[in-house]
Amino acid sequence: MNTYNRQPVTFTHGEGVWLWDEQGNKYLDALAGVAVNGLGHAHPKMVKAISAQAAKLIHTSNIYHIAEQEKLADKLAEISGMDKVFFCNSGCEANEAAIKLARLYGHNKSIETPEIIVMERAFHGRTMATLSATGNRKAQAGFEPLVSGFIRVPYDDLEAVKLIASRKNNVVAILVEPVQGEGGIHIPADMRAYLQGLRKVCDDNAWLLMLDEVQSGIGRTGTWFAFQHTGMMPDVMTLAKGLGSGVPIGACLAKGAAAEVFTPGKHGSTFGGNPLATIAGLTTLNAIQDEKLRENAQKMGDLIVTLLKIELANTRGVIAMRNAGLMIGIELDRPCADLVKMGLEAKILINVTAENVVRLLPPLIINETEVKELVSRLAPLIKRFLSQ
Ligand SMILES: *Cc1c(COP(=O)(O)O)cnc(C)c1O
Repeated sequence: MNTYNRQPVTFTHGEGVWLWDEQGNKYLDALAGVAVNGLGHAHPKMVKAISAQAAKLIHTSNIYHIAEQEKLADKLAEISGMDKVFFCNSGCEANEAAIKLARLYGHNKSIETPEIIVMERAFHGRTMATLSATGNRKAQAGFEPLVSGFIRVPYDDLEAVKLIASRKNNVVAILVEPVQGEGGIHIPADMRAYLQGLRKVCDDNAWLLMLDEVQSGIGRTGTWFAFQHTGMMPDVMTLAKGLGSGVPIGACLAKGAAAEVFTPGKHGSTFGGNPLATIAGLTTLNAIQDEKLRENAQKMGDLIVTLLKIELANTRGVIAMRNAGLMIGIELDRPCADLVKMGLEAKILINVTAENVVRLLPPLIINETEVKELVSRLAPLIKRFLSQ
């Protein structure tokens, strides 16, 4: 169906940060399938692991124990400090699980109409509940009636949340991205203070703090998860995008009381956590650890922004550059969707979100030579675009 305005290109294969099209042209991939291909393309460890798994077992069912799923759950618990994991196949499904968990948590406390606080400019997915939680009127238009039970506040505004705490007694949770991705790479002015402040409001009111780390998780911001920059723990965290290096997988993690909310029959998934997807997740996490890719994401992300700031100094029309590791946004003073096409012509894959923010989400394996190549391809494009 006509759900995407596709760019006029078809890729045949890739290696590392590079992709080749049907005509043999080579592109620098600074988008990584929208924060999915953290290990780049055709990473040898991934190729080997999923080939071997496919030869053994791709799928059984959650009716049975799945050894690979249990190993990935243990690994996720180890690196996050969370207690339990539910596996699904995508980011919106992970958030659906979190939303259901929060509602059940409320009903268990005899709250009949539980509500969840969500943020302006948030993105949580395209299913009915996650679309309703998303803070983008354009994405919602035409799909009313939306799912009820969400209260919206401005992002990075702790006082707005406190005000709701003082007025309402049916709130059960806050759902928030530590760094907003689709919304335009927005990073709280003081992420530590903001998340610690939200943590305290949740503690004081027995609400669940639920972090959507679908885009910010899996090493992208320089730590396994963005919340690890802040010295506090969430009750619930959702993951997807980078977790399986392109094999579809999502996860909803929970800690403490939140980890005990679901009981058999309350939630499920046919494909969720199958042997192939969870081997892909396990291999991804091990490679990120063994190849020190979190450290690399921090270093390379900062280097890209440093170099772009030099190249674009005195360029009128660049409003701001923001990054948390390799989540990078370059905000311009005008809508800039045309830059994607210009990028394609210059053999660099980029993205534009929130109309006027150039978004870069390169593979975590990108090296210094490739960073310099990225900047030397991108900076002239932005200059040319802004001088039109
Ligand atoms: C991409 C994204 C989602 C949705 O993930 P899908 O796999 O497309 O359903 C949810 N939350 C955030 C923060 C995302 O970036």
